[in-house]
Order: sequence, then C-alpha cells, then structure tokens
Amino acid sequence: DQNKFQAIISHCKEYGFIFQSSEIYDGLSAVYDYGQYGAELKKNIKDYWWKSMTQMHDNIVGIDAAIFMHPSTWKASGHVDSFSDPMIDNKDSKKRYRVDHLIEGFAATMNPEEGASLIKEMEQLEAAGDYKGLKDLIDRHKIKCSVSGTANWTDIRQFNLMFSTQLGSVAEEASEIYLRPETAQGIFVNFLNVQKTGRMKIPFGIAQIGKAFRNEIVARQFIFRMREFEQMEMQFFVRPGTEMEWYNYWKEERLKWHKSLGINPERLRFHNHTKLAHYANAALDIEYDFPIGFKELEGIHSRTDFDLKNHQELSGKKMQYFDPEINKNYIPYVVETSVGLDRTVMMILSEAYEEQDLSTEEKQDSRVVLKFPAKIAPIKLAVFPLTKKDGLPEIAKTIMDQGRPHFRCFYEEKDAIGKRYRRQDAIGTPFCVTVDHQTKEDNTVTIRYRDTMEQERIGIDQLIELVNRKIAE
Ligand code: ATP
Repeated sequence: DQNKFQAIISHCKEYGFIFQSSEIYDGLSAVYDYGQYGAELKKNIKDYWWKSMTQMHDNIVGIDAAIFMHPSTWKASGHVDSFSDPMIDNKDSKKRYRVDHLIEGFAATMNPEEGASLIKEMEQLEAAGDYKGLKDLIDRHKIKCSVSGTANWTDIRQFNLMFSTQLGSVAEEASEIYLRPETAQGIFVNFLNVQKTGRMKIPFGIAQIGKAFRNEIVARQFIFRMREFEQMEMQFFVRPGTEMEWYNYWKEERLKWHKSLGINPERLRFHNHTKLAHYANAALDIEYDFPIGFKELEGIHSRTDFDLKNHQELSGKKMQYFDPEINKNYIPYVVETSVGLDRTVMMILSEAYEEQDLSTEEKQDSRVVLKFPAKIAPIKLAVFPLTKKDGLPEIAKTIMDQGRPHFRCFYEEKDAIGKRYRRQDAIGTPFCVTVDHQTKEDNTVTIRYRDTMEQERIGIDQLIELVNRKIAE
C-alpha cells in the first residue's frame, strides 16, 4: 500500500521522528536522521533488544567493537571478493540499477505468468554468472517495458558495496580501510578475548548493536534500505554438529521477540533461503508485511566455522576452543541472528500507524494515532493543566517532578485539551493526565488512554505505579 507508506513518511517528518539527512542541502540519498521522538523510539527498541539478549540470557554477553577494522578482516570474511551486486548503468539517464531490481521491475509490468518466467530466467543466468545473458535479457525487455525508451546501457559489472576511506594523516602512510558493512566481524575477531576473559563455556553468545555501512544502489525505500544503518546482531558459538538444533531454537526465539513487540503474527513469516550465501549451511529471513509488502527484517544464519576458520588462517592466530565435556579442541560453529534496527523501527511504525475516522452525526472528526506498545513509546506520560491559572500548572509540575525520574514525561499547557490529546496521539504517547479544579479538592486527575480514548479519575499517588506497571507489560 504505497499510500500508507507515503503517509507514514510524511507523518515521521511532520512529528519529529525521521528527517532526510542534510535536508537544507536537499538531502543525501538513502541517509536519514532521527529526530526527537524517533531517537527515543529507536533507543527504546535498542534497550529492549539488549536486555532480552544479554540480561535475560546468562550465557550471552554484549560488546561494542569499533567501526574501523584491520583491512584483512574483510579479506577473511569474503567481503572484499564477493560483497557485490551486478550493476548496469543507463548512459542516457545516467541512472545506475541493480540488475536484479531492474529485471524485477520489468516483471512487475507483465502478467503474472510472464513475469514469473522472466524472474526464473534471470535467476538461472545469475546462478551461472552469465552477465552477457543478463544483458541480452535487459535488451530484450527494455523497450517493451519502456524504461527510458530505447536507452543505451553499459555492460554489466560487479559493484562492491563497501565504503572505503584512508587511515593515516599523510598520503604516504595512508592505507585503505573500509567502513564495516556488518557488525558481525567485530564479534568474530574478539571471540577469544571474550571467551577467555569472561571464561565463557560453549554454547555461548556475543551480542552487539552498531552502525554498518553499505553503498546500496537502490535507495528509494525510506529507512528500509539505507547507506548508513544500525544492526543488532548476536553470534552464538556452538559445538559443531549441534548447529541445526540452535538454528531452530533461535529462529523461534527471535520470532517470539517480534511478537512480544505487539506485532500481529499474521504479518510475520519465515522465508527459507534456497540460494545460500558463501558462509552459510542454512539460512532464513524473518519477514514482515511492510506497507511495501513482505520483506526481510532479520536474518538467521548458520555460518558454520567459516568466519573463525578464515580469521585463523589469515591472522595465524588459533581460534579454537577446548571443550572440557568432550575433551577436544575445535573451531566453534556459529548461529547468528541479525536484525536491522531501522527496519525494526519501520515495522513498529507500520504496525502502530492508524488513521481513524471519529465523525459523529454532529461533527466530522478524525485522528492519526501511533499505537506503540507502552514499553517503547517515546513519551510515556503527558501532563496537562486544564488552564494556565488557579494553581493548576503548579500541581501539574509536581506530577512532572514525580514522573521524570521514572520515564519520559511531557508537559503542555497551550491549546484546548482535545488538541493536546491529538498531538500526543500522533507521537504515540500512551497516557495523558489532566489536572483540573477537582484536583485541588481531592488530589485526583483524569487519565486518558490513547488507544480507547477512555478517561477515568485516579489518585495522583497511584499514577506513577500505574504507568510503570503498563510499561513493564
Ligand atoms: P537485503 O537482502 O534486504 O539487502 P541482506 O540480506 O543483505 O538484506 P543481511 O546482510 O542479512 O541483509 O543483514 C542483516 C539485517 O540488516 C537485514 O535483515 C536488515 O534488517 C538489515 N539491513 C541490511 N541492509 C540494510 C540497509 N541497507 N538498510 C537498513 N537495514 C539493512
């Protein structure tokens, strides 16, 4: 649903969730900034993931590795040689396309049967590495599908997705390094440091949250596909031969985690990979039904000993673990869970966003509401004095003082109450309280619930506990 997708993008901008990067200079393509509410939302998701991975699992610890890594890292991981997509340029429009996306675009304009057979043909040519065949395929379809008419196309070539830069201050000293395209390698190179200093016993995991960078070619999908993004990854080290057991365990655990964020289970599904990446012996995606369709949210990969073995080879340092239970040395196998933080934000926004018609016979009315689970909502409690006088702001401010140490609160005294409620609905605040003249008599306030819009009176002394309880749910 493109309309909903566009509506969410506009809403994010209008209400301070997500802005185009460097907007005053007309933006930077596929790079985004999180505003005041987006940053809170993202941080709450991060903290929730971190807690459920580390605090809730005694055998998983978290680290924070550097973005810059020794260049050999990316040789060992296979990224220098194979982290690339086949690309083609249109000489007239000067536009660059990922070959698979271009052909998928052609297929989308055909009837379903023809489209499916075109995709199949493409996959066979891709698997055979037949670039000439792919080029012919594009030549045959470009006119029919009128992508820039009878455009001129370059040959197809590989385009590495890693960003490179120079380390060192003087040119002679400088050596080329990469911005990491995934956080996982920071965990692999620290495997022994953590295992030894933490005296970790297999099976155990190392978790990490951090930025990753990819020079994505197709970049018109808001925060779904960015050039700078964040990943939340966990590498779980296991005894070889037990990896499928753990793979099955983690895929279910991770699905449960997404459901625990209030996601409708019908919009989540597994998608098994038939074409496996160079490092994997089993892989699947957890997909979410975004407004742009079912797409990858998280990858679960059984990476075997691919990474540790290659690092051992290139560094000459042993990457082995002595397993006292079976009295053996081995390079552990790895099951990885890798979820995009920004894609999780986009899932939460898609799931939460609702346009509601509240019209009655008397008057037309509507609202946009973000139904975030309380635990990740940017603001938990908004506090409104009904009027700016009669001592009501003073009471409201004492409520702010009570709430502030516990959770993010928001104070507002301007405009009619109804308007203030609507503004909080639009940023997903689950609870609003209004201080009125009765408050002065009996120390109660009106609490208004975002989703049902129901209101009830409650004692000020019960307020913090109630909100804390809802956040913990
Ligand atoms: P895709 O096929 O969509 O390019 P991928 O299979 O390359 O993704 P992985 O390498 O498995 O992705 O990365 C793990 C997770 O990181 C993905 O499931 C996704 O949530 C996130 N991710 C990957 N690339 C991007 C990106 N360009 N922008 C935002 N998130 C990303």
